[in-house]
Amino acid sequence: MTARVIDGRAQAASLRAEITARAAVLPFRPGLVVLLLGDDPASAVYVAAKGRAAQAAGIAARTIRLPAATEEATLLREIAALNADPAVDGILVQLPLPPQIRRPAVVEAIDPAKDVDGFHPLNVGRLHDGLPGLVPCTPRGVMRLLAAAGVALSGVRALVLGRSAIVGNPLAALLTAADATVTLAHSRSRDLAAECRRAEVLVAAVGRAELVRGDWVAPGAVLIDVGINRTADGRLVGDLAYAECAAVAGALTPVPGGVGPMTIACLLENTLTAALARRGPRPL
Ligand code: NAP
Repeated sequence: MTARVIDGRAQAASLRAEITARAAVLPFRPGLVVLLLGDDPASAVYVAAKGRAAQAAGIAARTIRLPAATEEATLLREIAALNADPAVDGILVQLPLPPQIRRPAVVEAIDPAKDVDGFHPLNVGRLHDGLPGLVPCTPRGVMRLLAAAGVALSGVRALVLGRSAIVGNPLAALLTAADATVTLAHSRSRDLAAECRRAEVLVAAVGRAELVRGDWVAPGAVLIDVGINRTADGRLVGDLAYAECAAVAGALTPVPGGVGPMTIACLLENTLTAALARRGPRPL
């Protein structure tokens, strides 16, 4: 069997076109602010890509760059000012943060109504309670890719590899809400290969290059690869051993060109959702 490739770039382009069209008819421009601390090159590339995508969709995006040595109190003051600014609909603090800054303090400082990353405890709680709120971008993108691939999730055995607050944990909640039977595996899970072989839908969000081998995959399974890893010889690979998995799976996402583009498109969607909720008659 040769698996069908789930094209994240095409799905992201279509979502971005939809957001652009919805934003174009608004009487205001949704506003997104990204806070970037320090000069980590990878973070700078991600932030620039987010800014370009937002501008192209008609969202007024700007980046506030702060030195790596910024004190936590200074960052919290910046966030408070953005919370109070009516033109700002979405606030995102690019991760990773420098060691002197506590991530929970930052996440909790952001107005939940402007929390386009969906990391604030109020939005996390809403997600786990099945209530409307802002949902983290990467898991939302994974769910959209599964829908685009025509996967009917009700009753399906789904395995999420990785339990981070950013990807694995919220994704497990979304899959549960979609009526899948969900297993959430992590570094302490016993016999990952056997867990994987049981899965009809497998999402790998681990950050270990090519961890999932072809003989871990059930024939016909749908595989979503969230991982982004750089190998010693400079290649960009996911958490799936792609060629081996593609020989067994029914469908899978490539790296690059799978989940990554969807994450950015879902950030734009969250910004639009936040703007409409804040400025419209029905808050989130
Ligand atoms: P993370 O916070 O480091 O979490 C990794 C998770 O994988 C943890 O739950 C960890 O288990 C688990 N894990 C680590 N080694 C394992 C192993 N050998 N076997 C089983 N589980 C293992 O990472 P993250 O932020 O969720 O990101 C995961 C990957 O996705 C990274 O490659 C990241 O770059 C990528 N990513 C991509 C996008 C995108 O847009 N495409 C967005 C976000 C992240 P424990 O909890 O037990 O430590």
